[in-house]
Amino acid sequence: MVPVYNEEASLPLLVEKIITVLDEAGIAFEIIMVNDGSTDGSAKVLAAIAQGDARIKIVNFARNFGQTAAMMAGFDHSKGSIIVPIDADLQNDPADIPRLLAKLDEGYDVVSGWRRDRKDEAVKRNLLSRVANWIISYASGVHLHDYGCSLKAYRRSVIGRVKLYGEMHRFIPIYASWYGARITELEVTHHPRRFGKSNYGMIRIVKVTLDLLVVSFLDRWIGKPIYLFGGFGLLWLAVSLVSLLYVFYLKLFANLSMILTPMPLLVAMSFMMGVMSILIGLLAEIVVRTYFEALAKPIYFVNNTVNLPPEHGAGG
Ligand code: UDP
Ligand code: MG
Repeated sequence: MVPVYNEEASLPLLVEKIITVLDEAGIAFEIIMVNDGSTDGSAKVLAAIAQGDARIKIVNFARNFGQTAAMMAGFDHSKGSIIVPIDADLQNDPADIPRLLAKLDEGYDVVSGWRRDRKDEAVKRNLLSRVANWIISYASGVHLHDYGCSLKAYRRSVIGRVKLYGEMHRFIPIYASWYGARITELEVTHHPRRFGKSNYGMIRIVKVTLDLLVVSFLDRWIGKPIYLFGGFGLLWLAVSLVSLLYVFYLKLFANLSMILTPMPLLVAMSFMMGVMSILIGLLAEIVVRTYFEALAKPIYFVNNTVNLPPEHGAGG
């Protein structure tokens, strides 16, 4: 399954490689290419590639919905019992797919690729992603080196119930672990980008950090949010009570009015503002989920498909 956004130059080579590798290994397959509203010639190139090979299926999005939505569409439109997402830009190597499948056969539900020798910019991408991976690993309790690597292998049984939002495709192994999946990782080859350019900038780091917050929140507190919100609330009530007593103490025994020093107010106000916004953000996440799932609002719209049965145009 391949999410595609403006990758016309690498598509023919990519598909050829996947077919060669899998045919040689004697693995039955279908390739789902999800064109995420590309503005270059990707749609044309894909149509040409899919012609005469029914194993290549294409989902054309009505506009750009992002990599996570593209991957959801890939899951939704695939039929196999094992699903392997791979990037369209040839940075992942299709030759690794049989190795991932072999590892899966050893008794795992998720095999995550690990780009140990990563070929991206040293500080901006590699260093930051190391820090990010370390934090995600610690926060989630699912210990992997490289969540961001698209090349992974999943058993359908563990992703059946996963719904993805924002930048969350990288957290699928974490969701899967909630359903009891056995998870491992395997080193995979990584190549520098040859054609086109990366679709992401630094803003992704912010998004991933916030998504992580949401994922950890959902994991720990979704069943009993009052423990979290109420806990914070009580804590703040206690702080305010103690401060009040201290103000009385100063007034009565030190004869000093708190009003003469503006600092406590400033610190308390800004800190509370920070905490409140985070909590409100989490609350909003719950609301958003109710909204999406209760109304069955799709997270992407499909224009048309190739080699796939006709559909109503929406999914997710
Ligand atoms: N992609 C997508 N929709 C987007 C952005 C990216 O489907 O809005 C695809 C892109 O074509 C590629 C994969 O997601 O197959 C990873 O994107 P990219 O290579 O730009 O990210 P990087 O490798 O730099 O992390
Ligand atoms: Mg890439």
